[in-house]
Amino acid sequence: MNIHTQQINSDIFKSKKINLFIKRIDLIHPFVSGNKYYKLKHNFTELHKQKKDKILTFGGAYSNHICATSYYAKKNNIKSIGIIRGDKHVKLNHTLTFATKQGMELHYVSREDYRQKHKLYFINQLKNKFGDFYLLPEGGSNILAVKGSREIINNDNCNYICCSVGTGATISGIMESSKKHQKVVGFPALKSYKDLQNNIKKWSRRSNIKLEYAYVGNGYAKISNDLIKFINNFYYNYDIPLDAIYNGKMMMGIFDLASKNYFEKGSNILAVHTGGVQANKGFNDRFGIDLPLI
Ligand SMILES: *Cc1c(COP(=O)(O)O)cnc(C)c1O
Repeated sequence: MNIHTQQINSDIFKSKKINLFIKRIDLIHPFVSGNKYYKLKHNFTELHKQKKDKILTFGGAYSNHICATSYYAKKNNIKSIGIIRGDKHVKLNHTLTFATKQGMELHYVSREDYRQKHKLYFINQLKNKFGDFYLLPEGGSNILAVKGSREIINNDNCNYICCSVGTGATISGIMESSKKHQKVVGFPALKSYKDLQNNIKKWSRRSNIKLEYAYVGNGYAKISNDLIKFINNFYYNYDIPLDAIYNGKMMMGIFDLASKNYFEKGSNILAVHTGGVQANKGFNDRFGIDLPLI
């Protein structure tokens, strides 16, 4: 796949004598966007190997993972089931409407039940209800997702790699394929996700990572006026749409860290645009704002 990388020219980077590049894996596909493509590909190979005809997975109402899985499953003639956190709304949002159109069967569970999703008894209840399926954890995050994410970076010439972080699968793959001299900087999208450190330890033997928590704002999928303004300015200046849950926060973080001399002079910084722009539509509809769309 030919993924292009483009430079972000801004006075701030010029004055600090650093270069920022953005790797556009968001352009792989409008719905199987960015990192979700890498996370799904080996899981579907495994699903075919196990001769399963159904996949079941978990997510929230704006989930890029639900969106991507529904599309990828349809394309592979596989039936998909999405276990969705929270109540069913009379009018489905953009993401869930899309998933339904791909043939995904949605099943809503309370927040308490959702927390049981790793427990065997809960999975068995789902098997009783839906029959046998290939189980994909929340966010599609497992060892096969990490394997796919290793392919995101290949001989990229830089000394920093920046990436937004949810469960940690994507950044673990990036760490695995990073070179010794490269520092990986993660921007968490959740204030505190208790499994994150363990996940990264489990999925990567490397330790060249730093997590910068200062840009998560009020927490997962919480957006501020500053963030909306930043995303819209960035779109205006560079014609690159960022999502509000992950990449908007990461990019705001990179600009802020650059202004605080976090990156030493001469640094080449590569930011991975992991996609997720499909979720902006749901935010716009819900909050009456105007985030960029694809
Ligand atoms: C899911 C997602 C992430 C986080 O990926 P993890 O592997 O869970 O850390 C980052 N960016 C976007 C756009 C995503 O959809």
